[in-house]
Amino acid sequence: QWQKIDEEISELTAKYNKIDPSSIESFTDFPLSRKTLNGLKNCGYSAPTDIQREAIGVSLQGRDVLGAAKTGSGKTLAFLIPILECLYRSKWTLNDGLGVLIISPTRELAYQTFEILKKIGQYHDFSAGLIIGGKDLRDERDRISRTNIIVCTPGRLLQHLDETSNFNCDNLKMFGRINESTQSITDFTFYIVVSVLDEADRILDMGFADTMKSIIENLPSERQTLLFSATQTRSVRDLALLSLTKPVYVSVHENS
Ligand code: ADP
Ligand code: MG
Repeated sequence: QWQKIDEEISELTAKYNKIDPSSIESFTDFPLSRKTLNGLKNCGYSAPTDIQREAIGVSLQGRDVLGAAKTGSGKTLAFLIPILECLYRSKWTLNDGLGVLIISPTRELAYQTFEILKKIGQYHDFSAGLIIGGKDLRDERDRISRTNIIVCTPGRLLQHLDETSNFNCDNLKMFGRINESTQSITDFTFYIVVSVLDEADRILDMGFADTMKSIIENLPSERQTLLFSATQTRSVRDLALLSLTKPVYVSVHENS
């Protein structure tokens, strides 16, 4: 079974460099895993919107992305599809802990993103969770360490990161991976492979610029970052400078 998965992964990744957005009409034209394609189909998504057509290929290639497209243009799938594929080709398992962090401006948006993720990711075996407060910090912290994909709000995430810097064993475990044989805790920082900053303009409008700065300082440098925004303001550009490395700029102005 693993051999079949390995074969599918090599077939898919071999096509990454040949993705041409202009020739893509359906999601099946992208080199996407069966599991993701079936999830999309089940939700009734067949043709990508403009921002999805432009952003998915470069995201699959591992590039940082600065994506701009107006509200309603389909930015959510533009990052949810690549993160599922990223974990899939890394053969991420439930035991591998946190791999993807999605930061959303509000609880409501985080919840909506989480719901779409659950639907399109239904055939994958990853775990996903919401970290938006309203629950015991300790409970949430325990959950983070066991969850592959976290959708969170900036304030609540920073609360967790602040706790971590207090340096106690519980907090280390929060982002750490326990080495099965030695029972020692490995540095968490290498295990977030993708971070997503969604609706970045709204995050900043809500006064989270400093919070985002602190969060980004705490993220591992070896990561891919996808930043999406409805508008391109000065502060979004500042956040992009802080969080992205050689990003591909994907901007869609027409109707999607
Ligand atoms: P944005 O984040 O850019 O405001 P959303 O990701 O919330 O946009 O998507 C807006 C709406 O478009 C949602 O109702 C979503 O279900 C729908 N949508 C997104 N992508 C597609 C697609 N490829 N085909 C059909 N509908 C889509
Ligand atoms: Mg959105």
